[in-house]
Amino acid sequence: AKRVYLLSEARGLSRDLLGGKGHGLAEMAAAGLPVPPAFVVTTEACRQYLRTGEVPGLWEEVRAGMAALEGLTGKRFGLGEGKAPPLLVSVRSGAPVSMPGMMDTVLNLGLTLEGVEALARATGNPRFAWDSLRRLLAMYGEVVLGERPEVFEGMLSALKAERGVGTDAALGPEDLEELAYRYLRHLEARGTPFPLDPWAQLQGAIEAVFKSWQNPRARTYRRIYGIPEDLGTAVVVQAMVFGNLGEDSGTGVGFTRNPATGEKGLYGEYLRNAQGEDVVAGVRTPEPLERLKGYAPGLYEELLQVAERLERHFRDMQDFEFTVERGRLFLLQTRAGKRTAQAAVRIAVEMAEEGLISREEAVMRVEANALPGLLRPSVDRDQAPRPLLKGLPASPGAAVGHAAFTNEAVERFHAQGLPAVLVRPETTPEDITGMYLAKGILTARGGLTSHAAVVARGLGVPAVVGAEALRVFPGEGRALAEGVEIREGDLLTLDGGTGEVYLGAVPLVEAGGEALLEKLLSWAEPHRRLGVRANADTPEDARRARAFGAEGIGLCRTEHMFFREDRLPWVRRLILAETPEEEALALERLFCFQKEDFKEILRAMDGLPVTVRLLDPPLHEFLPPLEALARRAEEGDEEAGRLLRRAEALKEANPMLGFRGARLLLLRPGVFRMQLRALLEAAKELREEGHDPRPEVMVPLVADPKEVERARALAEELFREYGPIPFGTMVETPRAALLAAEIAPLVDFFSFGTNDLTQMAFGLSRDDAGKFLPRYVEEGLFPFDPTERLDEKGVGRLLRMAAEEGRKANPRLKLGLCGEHGGEAGSVRFVADLLDYTSASPFRVLTARLAAAQAGL
Ligand code: PEP
Ligand code: MG
Repeated sequence: AKRVYLLSEARGLSRDLLGGKGHGLAEMAAAGLPVPPAFVVTTEACRQYLRTGEVPGLWEEVRAGMAALEGLTGKRFGLGEGKAPPLLVSVRSGAPVSMPGMMDTVLNLGLTLEGVEALARATGNPRFAWDSLRRLLAMYGEVVLGERPEVFEGMLSALKAERGVGTDAALGPEDLEELAYRYLRHLEARGTPFPLDPWAQLQGAIEAVFKSWQNPRARTYRRIYGIPEDLGTAVVVQAMVFGNLGEDSGTGVGFTRNPATGEKGLYGEYLRNAQGEDVVAGVRTPEPLERLKGYAPGLYEELLQVAERLERHFRDMQDFEFTVERGRLFLLQTRAGKRTAQAAVRIAVEMAEEGLISREEAVMRVEANALPGLLRPSVDRDQAPRPLLKGLPASPGAAVGHAAFTNEAVERFHAQGLPAVLVRPETTPEDITGMYLAKGILTARGGLTSHAAVVARGLGVPAVVGAEALRVFPGEGRALAEGVEIREGDLLTLDGGTGEVYLGAVPLVEAGGEALLEKLLSWAEPHRRLGVRANADTPEDARRARAFGAEGIGLCRTEHMFFREDRLPWVRRLILAETPEEEALALERLFCFQKEDFKEILRAMDGLPVTVRLLDPPLHEFLPPLEALARRAEEGDEEAGRLLRRAEALKEANPMLGFRGARLLLLRPGVFRMQLRALLEAAKELREEGHDPRPEVMVPLVADPKEVERARALAEELFREYGPIPFGTMVETPRAALLAAEIAPLVDFFSFGTNDLTQMAFGLSRDDAGKFLPRYVEEGLFPFDPTERLDEKGVGRLLRMAAEEGRKANPRLKLGLCGEHGGEAGSVRFVADLLDYTSASPFRVLTARLAAAQAGL
């Protein structure tokens, strides 16, 4: 099969084959937009190369592609002829899924020592020619030959010091020539000489791009975003155009709408007299595109038209890169722009209202998992002191955390459960781990389209970039801001919506309601069949969930009520009780607490179902740690001594699989009766007050129908007194799923506890797996973390089987899901046709509603 396509041949081929960049270029070329000639080496070739280390016949196809580029540009590769400059190309990676900055690129490829002379002659600009060569040497040296970029930067700084100049711009052509020779000699001495044959350069670069698919930062990125490991990258080989030929040249990035707010209008940044990588790398801070209106109105007008045509062609917000070579505009890339959750919603709604897309498309356009980002807090300006710094508002939301200057520092704070703010001069793709784990990101340099800004928005991490008054010394673990020293660990607050940064922890305020989101959800709701409830065990959570549109509570965990300080002594007396009287007294007190708790929650959810789950954790969780008890007992504390003996008796080697849930409730039926009576009594009192409580009760962790039968009998005793309410069981052990047909006739509903079901299906402790699961995913052993996203193949199979068999055995059976997966979009879509409702934590109720609607479209 063909593996190299010219843009003109590539029209209509898939993104999977051409990669996003190649596909975008082919589409733009087809739409008549100005694109420099290029060809694409397919992802298929990359996959073959990574599998076998070679692609027979590829080189002939590449040669033919180069011949075509020579024809289209009228230039010769590697050597200028007469007055024509040589054909130089860029070699870029382009995966089917956008992975900004994660893989490698080489620019100015094809330049040789003779080529430099020809380029200098043709452009009349020897400085530019030598600058192009030294850039090629540094990029090629890094990407293909494996030298560290600091080495080239170091040699550049050394030369500047020798010449006594401060900036790169102050170096003349001879200086850059000298630098190029130093680079060449360095690479030679290192045993990795730079190939002065342009064809060898090309071959090396294409192979390096193939291999860059496997580099560690690309793998990390794929893990974070759940991108499959086996896609491979395409390679785009494109005739170079130069943005660094003078003041009438430049390079920029444009968004057809504002990626932070979604506001319609051309938005972006431009760097005069610079090459493309300078913008994305965030090394120099570019100027807003708006400024072009002043000194290049024609260009600005042209960009506006390009933006309009791009949107009409792609029917989505585009993020495009362009270069201006001596006043002439070229588009180098376009892709659907990354955007904040706010922007995603606004763009989808407004595009539907403009008639560019349908309402259904608008609903599908918004990544449901990103919605919690919409609800991110901001700094409370009424309580905020004067900001220490102001930068660009790159990713909304406010964050409070400890200053960390390196990935490692962020990881250290994270390991201690402390929030960190990553503070960097600028970020590079190497910083991805720290950016992912940090609560906020702050950089001294870079614009709104710098790496830091793009990645932070994608991750949903609040970020302030380009805080020019900040000087960061990562090696020394400190930074300076307006004369104030920030040391590692100091608390910082930043607001990515305003760009302000404060010393210390500043109070935050929750986000306000979102009218546009309401509109989008109103378009989505008619397509939703799956019910959405919330996991809530406090009245505040219940009220918040209801405001987000929850249709009831799918899981109210009662143990949280036991943990409260005023109840704990009574819980402990219950555990210690040696006589029925002692137990009865403790239960009596707890009954009063529970009844009040239930009343408040039922009241907050008046008219909607509230599923109360009876006590689940093992009793020892309510006791102080053994060591503490032992110490106190030693000091003569008698109560501690009794608790210690009880705690030792209750101690289990594996409490997760121990005396908890149904096992505990059936062998300590006093607890069962107390909780259920409190619930029934609470409902009764509310009804008497004129309310409409809808309680349901559920038993956790059953594994056998006999347990359910016994629990039901206990419940029936109270139902006879108060009247019945829906009675259900969690299905969270594999055995309960396997025996669903026998259990279903005994209950009114199942609620799948996918946290435990995942834990037990995988044999993977949910409390400890965090220590190694990320590595498992990184190594490609698991495609994603099954504690976050439901494993459809295994756990999903258990769930489907139990749902189907349960329903067959009891046609009136209601089915819900209440594990963490209940608020994860992919998992919600999976169960959308299988169950009656899902239950999500309050902030993820919106995600669940949208995902469930998307499943119906
Ligand atoms: C579950 O196991 O999925 C569940 C909802 O219960 P918990 O997380 O409380 O064990
Ligand atoms: Mg559970």
